[in-house]
Amino acid sequence: MSNAEYDVIIIGGGPAGMTAGLYASRAKLKTVLIEKGIMGGQMMTTSTIENWPGFPGGIGGPELMMRFQEHCVEYGLETDYGTVEKIIDNGATKTVVIDGKEMICKTVIVATGAVPSKLGAEGEAALVGKGVSYCATCDGAFFREVPIAVIGGGDTAVEEAIFLTRFASKVTLVHRRDQLRATQILQDRALANDKIEVAWNSVVDGLESDNTGLTGAILKDTKTGETRKIELQGMFVAVGVTPTTEFIRDLVDVTDDGYIKAGEDTKTSVPGIFSAGDNRTTVLRQVSTAVGDGAVAAIMAERYITELDD
Ligand code: NAP
Repeated sequence: MSNAEYDVIIIGGGPAGMTAGLYASRAKLKTVLIEKGIMGGQMMTTSTIENWPGFPGGIGGPELMMRFQEHCVEYGLETDYGTVEKIIDNGATKTVVIDGKEMICKTVIVATGAVPSKLGAEGEAALVGKGVSYCATCDGAFFREVPIAVIGGGDTAVEEAIFLTRFASKVTLVHRRDQLRATQILQDRALANDKIEVAWNSVVDGLESDNTGLTGAILKDTKTGETRKIELQGMFVAVGVTPTTEFIRDLVDVTDDGYIKAGEDTKTSVPGIFSAGDNRTTVLRQVSTAVGDGAVAAIMAERYITELDD
């Protein structure tokens, strides 16, 4: 007889975790979702999502996540708040340590997502909140009619650059290559925007500040090595994400970048532990893929429990 309090513990309340919660609750598995901050994950800092099907014209990230949460609650998903410190594999059960407290379950779905990566520029950490930001939706409105820069060339950087033109006098998009990585529709929109100037083949080689905060950045041309100064009051860093997997890296197989090694079936190297969403090895990280992962992980957990109980 198992001493498990839960069939499933889901870690992380973003789109993957909430979808796993919805499917597990509908499968009548005793499930709790543990979230360390606010439910909704990275979508809570996304002003509008334009590629979530069913919402022509887009829908606000927080609004969509509120609907996800209401939907989970409708099917009785239990949620709790805390930080998972460790998972112990006991074989047929797993012990999840949350803020020093132990909970025992049969399966774990890790849906902890990812957080924005730091640029690594000297002085960056000290200037957070004084000009340096990792979230345009959160901080954009503080930069009205002043020049700012966005660092990166992916979907996040280009989307943020476009969004920030609502506030800033000028947005310099600093990209280390001569071609953006972002999807074409975003590229077209950014390149057609008069307020956006792209600094191609450029990296940040230094930051300048005074007692009021950030005042400028030194950009280095990656081809010629030449440097130049641009005046700035804000710098939004959008150079990719780092998976939130520190607490599980010594238990399941992970890549050198910290992504949990799991295929489309969301199974990790440890039976009974599944990985869904942005924290696993995958070719695409979107709300739609996170949602798909959450559904698969819940069904895989259900099958695993059935086999365990037989
Ligand atoms: P990303 O796709 O990994 O892009 C990171 C960008 O930062 C790349 O352009 C990269 O340059 C640059 N970069 C990385 N390290 C750098 C460094 N040290 N210095 C300067 N530049 C650096 O990350 P993301 O844009 O955050 O997107 C993450 C995932 O979310 C992606 O799968 C993306 O498609 C998805 N996403 C989708 C949407 C949407 O569909 N609307 C919106 C946001 C995010 P290189 O190009 O040279 O590698």
